[in-house]
Amino acid sequence: MVSHYELLNRKRRGEQLDADAVRDFVASFVRNDAADYQMAAFLMAVAIHGMSEDELAALTAAMIESGEQWRLRDRFDYVADKHSTGGVGDKVSIVLSPWVAACGVKIAMLSGRGLGHTGGTLDKLDSIPGFNARLSRAELETCVEEVGCAIATSTAGIAPADRRMYALRDVTGTVESIPLITASIMSKKLAMGASALVLDVKTGSGAFMKEPEDARVLARSLMAAAKGSGTRVETLITNMDRPLGVAAGNANEIAESIAVLRGAGPPDVYEVTKAQAVSILTMSGSFDDASAEKALDDAIESGAALDAARNWIVAQGGDPTFVDDPTRLPQPATILEIKADRSGFLTGIDTYTVGMLAVDLGAGRRKQEDEIDPAAGIMFDKNVGDEVRSGETIARIFTGPKSPAVDEIRARYQRAVTIGMAPAERKDFVLERITEPA
Ligand code: URA
Repeated sequence: MVSHYELLNRKRRGEQLDADAVRDFVASFVRNDAADYQMAAFLMAVAIHGMSEDELAALTAAMIESGEQWRLRDRFDYVADKHSTGGVGDKVSIVLSPWVAACGVKIAMLSGRGLGHTGGTLDKLDSIPGFNARLSRAELETCVEEVGCAIATSTAGIAPADRRMYALRDVTGTVESIPLITASIMSKKLAMGASALVLDVKTGSGAFMKEPEDARVLARSLMAAAKGSGTRVETLITNMDRPLGVAAGNANEIAESIAVLRGAGPPDVYEVTKAQAVSILTMSGSFDDASAEKALDDAIESGAALDAARNWIVAQGGDPTFVDDPTRLPQPATILEIKADRSGFLTGIDTYTVGMLAVDLGAGRRKQEDEIDPAAGIMFDKNVGDEVRSGETIARIFTGPKSPAVDEIRARYQRAVTIGMAPAERKDFVLERITEPA
């Protein structure tokens, strides 16, 4: 077995490591035989030199082996999972789960809290009175069995190595490394072990991957890491150059998710969610693209998707009355209207900037221990491409006790939007679907 010192030396020189050596090193770290400073050095060397496919497969496997492996695909004939790289207004998981369940397809997700400027599914679900995302594995499985879907918080037992490695990455400038992001995401996903996984890799000003080519590289890396795992993967590259939908926050995103399931949601959320639902339905083998699209539209039209949402919320302890009466969700203390300062077309929204504004309003966390204000957030009454008249409301800001001063909010929002004389070129919401590892 190669010593930790020798392994680090080789990686520093840019040499390719033996897969077994990578696996042994991570296992040593998990047993506390390799120290945090040695893992930090390894992470930096990986961030600089990258990883071969074999090294990455070994790293991911070792991270999976550091904890529980649920193999949910052995428990159900077919169960899907979904992951998004994160964005502003990204409520897709909340729409997707009951929607595919209404089509008779099971889905289970272990989700996270907000990260940086992006929102987190669990924070949004917490704004539903009574909703419980802290499910044990057995509770999650029962929920999927009974109502077809479940979303729970990731447990300490899944890929514990990732939690320790992420904490080291966070303080060593090694978060933004494609192989490290890949191993982090896929170790958690493959440890749950669904039959199929759809990845939503976002690109644009509100995404971690600003350029489509970087999103493609990440997508190929994530898909390669799943090779031979028993989980089929499809990826959609989607547009995050504008907020997704009309709401960014928590309670307001829950209300918008229900509107989509009712058939009255914004077209971008409908389209991006439907594309992922089509991937999930077709990977089950029971649908082709056309029959999947029809089943999904029928589920909305018949009310089955809304019923599935009610059943799911009740199964996870939530009060479903807000489905028919959104005022039962937390409401903002005050609403501040932002008006257009000239007439023209909304040509851009700096999605990162409005995401950070939502965080500062109280919808997210600057520090891990910050408390969320479930009612805080932003309603994008006008989005990119819309015509606006001077003095017209372009956004409503839901403020609360944590929110910055009114003048600061106005200035930050006005700075984030661009109003031009000609309409912006319309970008597709779904940019690409990758069905096979490249
Ligand atoms: N999400 C994760 O789970 N890990 C990363 O490294 C980045 C995003």
